[in-house]
Parts: sequence; C-alpha cells; structure tokens
Amino acid sequence: MPITQFVLKVHSRCDLACDHCYVYEHADTGWRSRPRVVAEAVLARLAERIGEHAAERGLTAVRVVLHGGEPLLAGPKVFRRAAGLLRAALPEVCELDLRVHTNGVRLEEAYCELFDELGIRVGISLDGDRAANDRHRRFADGRSSHPQVLRAVGLLREPRFRHLYAGLLCTVDVANDPVAVYRALAELEPPAVDFLLPHATWERPPERPPGAGTTPYADWLLTVHERWEAAGRPFAVRTFDSVHRTLSGLPGLSEALGLEPVDLVVLETDGTYEQADSLKTAYDGAPGTGMDVFRHSLDEVAGHPGMAARQSGLDGLSAECRACPVVRSCGGGLYAHRYGGGSFDRPSVYCADLRALIDGLAARAGTVRRAPAPPVDLAGPGLTDEQLEELAVGLGGPETVRVLARSQLALTRTMLAAVHGSSGLARSEAWELLAELDAVEPAAVDAVFAHPYVRAWAARRLSGDPGAGLGTLAELAAAAAVRAGRGDSVAAPVREGVLHLPTLGRLVLGGGVREALVTGGRDGWTARTDGGAVAGSGDPRWQPRRKVGRGIAMEDVDPQRGVHRWPVEERLSDAEYLNWAGDFREAADLLDRDLPEYAAGLWAGLSAVTPLRRRADGRDVSSAARQAFGAVAIARPGNAETLALLLVHEFQHVKLGAVLDREELYDRGDTRLFEAFGLTPRPIGSLFQAVYAHLAVTAFWGTRAHGGTEPARARFAHWRALTDEAVDLLADSGALTPVGKRFADGARASVDPWLRATVG
Ligand code: SF4
Repeated sequence: MPITQFVLKVHSRCDLACDHCYVYEHADTGWRSRPRVVAEAVLARLAERIGEHAAERGLTAVRVVLHGGEPLLAGPKVFRRAAGLLRAALPEVCELDLRVHTNGVRLEEAYCELFDELGIRVGISLDGDRAANDRHRRFADGRSSHPQVLRAVGLLREPRFRHLYAGLLCTVDVANDPVAVYRALAELEPPAVDFLLPHATWERPPERPPGAGTTPYADWLLTVHERWEAAGRPFAVRTFDSVHRTLSGLPGLSEALGLEPVDLVVLETDGTYEQADSLKTAYDGAPGTGMDVFRHSLDEVAGHPGMAARQSGLDGLSAECRACPVVRSCGGGLYAHRYGGGSFDRPSVYCADLRALIDGLAARAGTVRRAPAPPVDLAGPGLTDEQLEELAVGLGGPETVRVLARSQLALTRTMLAAVHGSSGLARSEAWELLAELDAVEPAAVDAVFAHPYVRAWAARRLSGDPGAGLGTLAELAAAAAVRAGRGDSVAAPVREGVLHLPTLGRLVLGGGVREALVTGGRDGWTARTDGGAVAGSGDPRWQPRRKVGRGIAMEDVDPQRGVHRWPVEERLSDAEYLNWAGDFREAADLLDRDLPEYAAGLWAGLSAVTPLRRRADGRDVSSAARQAFGAVAIARPGNAETLALLLVHEFQHVKLGAVLDREELYDRGDTRLFEAFGLTPRPIGSLFQAVYAHLAVTAFWGTRAHGGTEPARARFAHWRALTDEAVDLLADSGALTPVGKRFADGARASVDPWLRATVG
C-alpha cells in the first residue's frame, strides 16, 4: 500500500505546556534526544524519498503536514526550504497538499503572507471557548493562550488569507460544556473542525467524571452533533462525516474511525521514520520503526510490521471487534487506544463511547435532512454468475458492461448525495432542482450523472480536495435542466469566463462574468449573465461537446477531465477534431472486424474519449482513471491500429475498476511488490490491472499475427510470454480472494490456447 500522507516534524519543542499533549506528557520520551529543528539534509532526503515513492507508485496527490512540537518555532526559512524541496521532487502529475498544524500563538501576518506565497494551508488547535481552552492549553507559567489563538484565527478569516484557513482541531474534554464549545468554534466560521478524543489506553484510561454516565464522550459528541445538524452543518466535522459515510457503505475519513488502511508516516526532526504520533501514548518507543530517511525507502517503511498491522483492516482487529455490529464504522477506534497488557489486540478503551456514538448517529440519520435524490443501492443491480465468468476471462459483452455501468451510476448518485450531505448547505437551489427533475425527468438527470467525470469530481470533493468547489453541483443542475427542457432555471458559476454545462459543452463568456442564469426550454436554452446579456446554443461562443463516432463523445471541454495521469489537450481545432474522428472510425472498424468479442463490450461502455497532449519524446500515452467509468484518455497516435490497441487496453482498466467497486479481488492490505511486464515492481492491485489489460493486448496481437506481418507475430509472441508469466505470478501471489482466483483462472483459460498457437 503506498504512503500518501506525511507528518513532517520541523521543530521538536513547543512554546505551550498543554497537559494533555501526547508528545511531551505521555509515555514516549523520544523528543528529549532529538534536534530542535529539522536539518536541511533531512528535508532534502525526505523530499527525494517522497518524490521517488510518488513516481514509482503513480501517486496523483500527497499530503504533507508540517508539524511539531510547535512548527512555527522552526522559522520561515525552514518552511520556504521544505515547500521548495517537496515541490521540486514530486512528479509533475502529483499534487502537493501542504499544510501546517500550529497552536497559533506565533501566527503573525508575516507568516500568513509566507504561507500564501508557498501555498501552505493552516490548521489551528483550539479546544473551544476561553474556559475550555484554558483548561489545558496554557503557557508553562500558567498564562492563557486563548487571546493569541483568537488573533491568529482572526487573521486567517481576513479575506486575503481566508483560502489558507484549513480548520480547527479540538481535543474533547467532557468537563467542558459541549454547547459552549460548539458555539465558540462555529463563531470562527471554520471550513472544518476535527474533534479528537484525548489519547488514552487500557493502562491509562480516559477521565470519566463521576455522575457523567457510562458513555460521557459519546454523549458530549452527540450534543455537539445535534447543534451542528440544527445549524445545517455549517462546516465539515470529520468524525460525523466519517460515520455518515461508513453507514452508507463509503470508506471512512479518519484513522480514528473505520476500516480504511492507514497510509500515513511521521518523520521526526532527526530523520527517523515513526508510525502515528498517537502511539506515543502507549509506551516509550512505541511509534519507532528503527528506520530513517537516509537508509530506508518509503516502500520499506510501508512494509514495517507496525505499519502493516495498522493497514490490515478487519483482520487486524480483536475477536470482539470483528464480531461487533458497528465495526465497519468504528474499525476498533484509533490503534493507540487499543493498547493494554502489552498488546493492541483489544477493542478501543473508548469502545462503549464509540458504540454509543455510532448507534446515536445511525438513529439520527433517519431524522436529518435527506438528500433529495432517492437513496440508491450502492452496488446497484447484480452480475450473474455467467457475467462474472465472462469478465474473468477478460471479456464482457454489452449486457454485462451495461450492468457495470448501471452499478457505477448508482455509486455516483450515492457519492453525490454524500457530497451534498456534507456540504453544510442549509438549502441548495441546484440540489433541489436535481431532485425535482429526478422525479419527473430521470433520464435527463441520469444522462448528466453518468458522465465519467461527475464521479471523479465527487471523489475529489469527498476526499476534501479544496480545488473541487461546490459550483459543479450547479453546473450539473443546469445541464440537467437544459436536457429536461421544461423551462427550469438555475444559477451556475462562470469560471474564468467560461460557463460549463457538463455533457453538453461550454460557453466562453470572457472575463468579468461570475454567474449565469441558465434556463432550459423546449426550444433550446439560454444563459443570462449578471450584466443582462443573453446567450444560447446558437451563440458563436458556444463550444458544444462533439462526437468522435459510435455515439461516443470527444471530451475536450469538461473542466473535470484533468484526472488522468497525463496532461489533457485544450479544446481541439476543427482540423484536429476531424483527424481524430477519422482515425477513430478506422480504429473502430478494425476492432469490429478483428476483435469483435472485445469491441461489443467497448461500444456498450465507452462514453468519452479525452484527448491527451502528445509527449515530447513521441511515445504513446493513454490512461484510464479509477474514478471515471466510461472514459479513456489518449494522445492521438500516428495510426488507427495503435489507436485501436490503446482503446481496448484502457477499457480493460475501466471494466476492472468497475468490478473492483463491487467485488474484493485481492487483499488490499498486501504490501508486497510484484515485478511483471518488464515494469518497476508494483503492488498486487497494479499487477491485477496489468494482467487484465494485457489479456486484451495479447488477443489484439493474436488476431494480427496469423497471416500477418513479422512485427505483428513478434509482438504476439512477446505479449503472450509476458502475460503467461504474469498470470502465474498473480495466481501464486497468495493475495487473491475466491473471486480474484476465479479471475486468475479465467486469465489462464484465455492464455493457454495462445501458448499452443504456432506463429512462426
Ligand atoms: S465499538 Fe468497540 S467492539 Fe465495536 S468495533 Fe469499536 S472498539 Fe471494537
């Protein structure tokens, strides 16, 4: 499993003396022997390690949190250096989400200006109102830190720095009034609040004040939840959002709740890698890995037994947790909180509270504001045994692919409902219009929601990507209104002068326009801008989405299409588009003639081809994105034969991705790397994908080898040998589930006849 989150300690001391701090006040004393400030050599080596890891694992985003002690004690130079080194080391396609978590005491204007320049977002620790915050968060001489923290948050709320404001971190103390804490935090208009349970273990249980009942932490959080819900969820709360998501079958959002494998590592100021900071609460040395940035790669860290234990999901939990009805939402709580009697093989010391909290939130889910779109079954309609068999051998006819498409649409709908549910909007005109259209014109809504990049946007939004703004919801509503043609109107954003109507096209309005009122009528649609100008589909500035052939869209206008590994092309000129369409027609005919058993499923499931930029070195480039069912992205190659090959190759990834949303094929906690197809070693999921894609590649060259040219015969011989080896590697990996084994058997059944073929 790749590591995508890094906590980088830039300073190992703190200017506050909070008595609940796990770094200085709990069992681990490692901080005493560490350098105060991270050294340049550590920063440089870590940046290289992260860059290598991102490139090898094909990561498209990593998050680095600059932490401490108190990170701002490290001084501006360290921040400038860390940001520069990290940005320079990461591959172009990998985004850096850089943050700092501070107590806020030293956050002055100059720091905010620096963070603005370096693109560093800021999270601040604050436990509530003054009385709550003063209970623990004081200077060593007993002075309150509350005024300084409020001043810091005030700076972040100023319009010029607002975009840097990442949120507040509040450690729960049940002695504080939850309503007062909620009000104090909500007044600061944070984009997000994290409520953290104070670190505790079975050896050192949490405070439970007399008379506070058996689940005081759950009661406290449920009171906060009530206020938050009544206020229309004005900001994200990871604890609540995580439980809501897991209750609907989605992955959790937090290491503290849910069964998602942990993909985070901590780097101390001396360059040693550690596991989660929270383990400092268990015993002296608990977070240690014995590894450091100079001698060990991140793949080695990911393979550390402690990391593996935190990534092992259900299998890594105690028998009591595995049998627990809320285990999918709870996940046994934070790993550190399970410690007792020398092991972590126990439920959380907060077990009773976690159970009561999850049950309480589940019970309230029936009374909270429902998403207007009808709730859907996450998995959607089922695959028959025959259809699964068809997919296992690498194929999948039109009806099978349509089942996958329906299931993907159901998943997208669920994700959109979760986006809206976590948006914090008390009322959303766009969402209400979508709900209304869904009741009367469901085909119009389905046509928009089935667009591949709608789910990609929803996934970015749900992962907390700040670049995935909510305006897309209004664009979707506007596109559905236009498709429905009932005369509905909705305001949609105009981004950098462009109004986007997903699945339809875009209207280039130019600078200065921020919003347009889109009306979808029987005789066409109009967009009225704030200045009063009206445009529509007949306007020369309208750039409709074009078709490349077979009813498949040429997607060169959708603003969400940049989810592929490679840079996408801008809108194609008419001449470029005609070249594309010509090559596509030829490629499609070739597939129909030579590879009909793959082509039939391809035409049933492929909905968009996204042009990519050509590489400077002339190599072919193509991609499928896990969150974009139905789309393949390709840089137009030099001939139709290669285009045909890239289409079937990438669509294999699309199909397998949709299968993986329904079926477990392999152990996702398996951290081993496998070498196949002459590529750098990859995890089991990538091996599975590579095998599946190369079944189509080998079949493609197989049809061209017989009676074909020498190069075609050579390619067939080459790919069947590599695919044969890779199928063995997959089958013998020991990581496959029963369904995964069926796929490996299916692959073997496809490969064996090729091995018997004589090709000269
Ligand atoms: S509620 Fe308790 S038993 Fe259930 S999963 Fe959580 S910690 Fe384990």
